[in-house]
Amino acid sequence: MKAMVYHGPGNVELTDIPKPTAGYGQVLVEVKYCGICGTDVHAYKSSGIFDWELVPGHEAVGFVAEVGEGVAGFSVGDRVAVGPPGDCGDCYACNTGHPNTCPNAFPNTLGIGPNTQGAFAQFVLSKNPKNELFKIPEGVSFEQAVLFDVMGVGLHAVRRSELKVGDDVVVSGCGSIGLSVIQTAKLAGACRVIAFDPVPQRRELAAQAGADFVFDPTDGTSIDEVKALLNHTGGAHVCFETAGMPASTATCADLCMANGQVIIVGSDNRPYPLVSAALGPRQLDFKLSFTYTKEEILTLFRLICAGRLDTSLYTLKTAPLLDVKAQLEGLASGEIQVARVLLTPNEG
Ligand SMILES: [Zn+2]
Ligand SMILES: [Zn+2]
Repeated sequence: MKAMVYHGPGNVELTDIPKPTAGYGQVLVEVKYCGICGTDVHAYKSSGIFDWELVPGHEAVGFVAEVGEGVAGFSVGDRVAVGPPGDCGDCYACNTGHPNTCPNAFPNTLGIGPNTQGAFAQFVLSKNPKNELFKIPEGVSFEQAVLFDVMGVGLHAVRRSELKVGDDVVVSGCGSIGLSVIQTAKLAGACRVIAFDPVPQRRELAAQAGADFVFDPTDGTSIDEVKALLNHTGGAHVCFETAGMPASTATCADLCMANGQVIIVGSDNRPYPLVSAALGPRQLDFKLSFTYTKEEILTLFRLICAGRLDTSLYTLKTAPLLDVKAQLEGLASGEIQVARVLLTPNEG
C-alpha cells in the first residue's frame, strides 16, 4: 500500500509499505481522509518532534476494513474516526479522570509515537480499538468527523475553564482552535466573546462563529477599546490564548479581571512574558489545556448531530497522497490557508 514516510525535516517520501492485517484484538481501517495537523507541519519544518521513519497522520476517518478476532463493537464497513488520545487506561492520570495527560498517550498515538504507523497511508491498523476508534454517528459526515482534533481541543479548553453563564470572554487568536473556543464558549453561556486576530479573514470567521466583537491586536488602539468595553468588571472573566504567541499570552493576562482565568491553549517554545509583580495583585488563575478526551470526541459528535456546532466555518481542501509534499510545503510557508488539508490516500 502507499504511505508517506518521514525521514526528517523537509524529507518525506511516498513509498510502498506492506499493508497491515488485523490480528487478535485489532481493527484495520481504510483511510477516507487524513487531516494534516499543525503538528505534522511543525515536524516537517523542525526536528525533535517525530522520530524518523515514521508514517505520520493522526486525524483520520475511514471505513473498518478488517476486524480481528476478539474485537467487539466494530463491524466491516463501519464509519470510524481514528486517532488520539491513545491513553493507556491504566496509569494515575487515566485513573483520576485526566486521560488526556496520560504519559503513555503521546508515544502510543498512531502517527506520532515512535514505531507507530499513522494514516498518511491507504490503511491504518488500530491495535487498541477501544481507545483509538470512534464510531461516527449517522448525521455526522466524514467531512465533519475529521474535524475531531481541531474541535476537540476547543471543547476541552472551555470545559477546563470555569466559564459560567453570563461571563465575558476574550479569545486571542482566531485560527481553527480559536474558532472552536468561540463556538463552545457561546454554547456554554458566555455573554460577550471578544476575539483578536491580525488577519481580516480570520476576524470575519470569528464573527460568524459567534464572536460579538472582533479586533486587530496590532492596530494600536484595540486593547484600550476592549478595556473600555470591560470597564465595569475590570476585565474578562476568562481569557483563552489560542494563538501560541508570547505577545498574545500577555494580552490575555492584561485583559483578564482580578481573580479571572487565563487558559493557555496555544503552544510555543518561547517563554511567556509574564511579570508576577504586575499579575500577583490581581490574583490571576493560569491554567493550561492539552488536547481532549475520548468522551469529548463523542460529545463533539453529539453536538454536531444536534446542529449546535457549525462545522462549515472550517475550510477544507482535499489532496491526493501523491501531493503530500506540496501540501506540507504550502502549509509550512503559509501559502495554503485552510483549516485542514485532507489527504485522500485511496483516491488518485
Ligand atoms: Zn493534530
Ligand atoms: Zn494512562
